[in-house]
Amino acid sequence: MAGSSSQRNKSVLVIGAGLGGLSAAISLRAEGFDVEIIEKNDKIGGKLNFKEIDGFGFDLGPSIFTLPQFFRSLFERAGREMEDYLELEAVHPHWRNFFEDGMVLDLDDDPGVMRRELNKLPGDAVHHWHQFQNFLTYARGQYELVNDGYFARGLDNLWEFIRHYGWRKLLFKMDHRNSMAESIAKHFDDDYLRRIFEYFIKYVGSSALDSPGYMNMMPIIQFDYGLWYVKGGMYNLARGLGRLLEDLDIRVRLGQEVGSIDRSGGRVVSGVTLEGGSRLTADYVVCNMEVLPAYRKLLSEPPAFMKKLQRFAPACSGLVLHLGTNRVYHELAHHNFFYSKNQNKHFHTVFRDGELPEDPTIYMVAPTRTDPSKAPEGCDNLKILPHIPPINPENPHTMDDYLALKERVIDKLERMGLTDLRRHTIVEDLLTPPDIERLYNSNRGSIYGVVSDWKRNQAFKAPKQSSKYSNLFFTGGSVNPGGGMPMAILCGQKVSDRVVAREENLGR
Ligand SMILES: Cc1cc2nc3c(=O)[nH]c(=O)nc-3n(C[C@H](O)[C@H](O)[C@H](O)COP(=O)(O)OP(=O)(O)OC[C@H]3O[C@@H](n4cnc5c(N)ncnc54)[C@H](O)[C@@H]3O)c2cc1C
Repeated sequence: MAGSSSQRNKSVLVIGAGLGGLSAAISLRAEGFDVEIIEKNDKIGGKLNFKEIDGFGFDLGPSIFTLPQFFRSLFERAGREMEDYLELEAVHPHWRNFFEDGMVLDLDDDPGVMRRELNKLPGDAVHHWHQFQNFLTYARGQYELVNDGYFARGLDNLWEFIRHYGWRKLLFKMDHRNSMAESIAKHFDDDYLRRIFEYFIKYVGSSALDSPGYMNMMPIIQFDYGLWYVKGGMYNLARGLGRLLEDLDIRVRLGQEVGSIDRSGGRVVSGVTLEGGSRLTADYVVCNMEVLPAYRKLLSEPPAFMKKLQRFAPACSGLVLHLGTNRVYHELAHHNFFYSKNQNKHFHTVFRDGELPEDPTIYMVAPTRTDPSKAPEGCDNLKILPHIPPINPENPHTMDDYLALKERVIDKLERMGLTDLRRHTIVEDLLTPPDIERLYNSNRGSIYGVVSDWKRNQAFKAPKQSSKYSNLFFTGGSVNPGGGMPMAILCGQKVSDRVVAREENLGR
């Protein structure tokens, strides 16, 4: 195995087989730890999940694969090649963007396509092209900065940032004075482009009004590193990782829920107790259950401790609607966005007021554009995902509220070109925030972990090492660098680095 040829005689229990848990397990095994994963569901992958209904293959969770280098490095840690476990296919165009006035604009990393698409906009095409180029240069600068420390070094908090970047870079290079939306407005005059680039915040389920400007690094993820589909369906990523677990002799207990993390004295954990009562001991526990629910449910931490974690508030949830239709909507690309007439209002309603939006921006996936096997011939497989607030425990939305939103979403899609969508629907599956919370133990039904919000948390997620228990680590969307598949995969690798560093500090 790469990383370490020797066995360490140290054991690790990983709670949860989401991408962060799988990545930590693989990376730690590659470092010579004895690793076992405990997963409450009957399959690995966590939110990377699928369901087959009447010939329609629905990817219930992620649909956009980005930053393949972070996945490749995981396989390399284990001395393997990613291409032996999964196959990636480039998706073109990247996104198709629909507006209520009939404007349709594609995004792609091919400059020829982008030039053609920008010609569709009102005003001077050369001016739009220059603004687009300037924006990408600025976004690339932000990406390189964030990648250099936050991603590559696995930095976890402001102090580590200051130490790594120094004040000058932090104050003058990293764009934190403006919100993401403010910096976009400075770069683009055109309202269509403003709305499109604001919605890149979708990748972390947050608001462009409340996220710092450096989150404008996100278009670079696509424009420089491509947008991909996992051949055969997104769940083939989990299948590929599953094969790697087998190759590395990592044990997985499926269908077993951890009920508590056990303490052995003050600041050390000793293992876990399963819901059935069995106790498992280990030198380390790595928790892929989200940080807040884990401290609350598995460790029963007191309110004063929980209060300090409140800044790691949940990212948005989603109304995840899967439709199988008995016709094909040829106007759709693989990834589509249907914009709100007033996107500011959408962000306000969802992220500040915590209400269900009247007119949300809607993300829609039609995977058969790349993979015809995902629907019967002559049919379409549609995933429809408006972002909505996480559950408010004091005043939760009702099922009727969610169903009313579903009707508004379908009305909007029919109005914007998907004629008779209701009438052509022959298969339907709906996940609401309570379903998402129940399925993955996510915090209030969050789909991307912790929200990126400058005022609340400066876009930091929770740290990888517990502040309270020195051999307890966290991994996944609620932990730096945060939500989304590539970030969860990177997180697990950085958790492993921290565990190894701890071992070295202890002189073992
Ligand atoms: C609808 C939707 C669309 C998305 N779209 C995209 C996208 O297009 N691109 C992208 O990159 N990302 C997307 N994401 C986000 C991405 O899926 C997540 O950020 C990522 O998969 C989360 O990984 P994780 O490591 O946080 O683990 P999770 O997926 O949250 O998994 C945690 C695992 O731990 C298990 N678990 C929890 N508690 C316990 C316990 N007590 N005992 C045992 N097991 C436990 C759960 O069952 C689960 O399997 C989407 C997510 C959703 C839901």
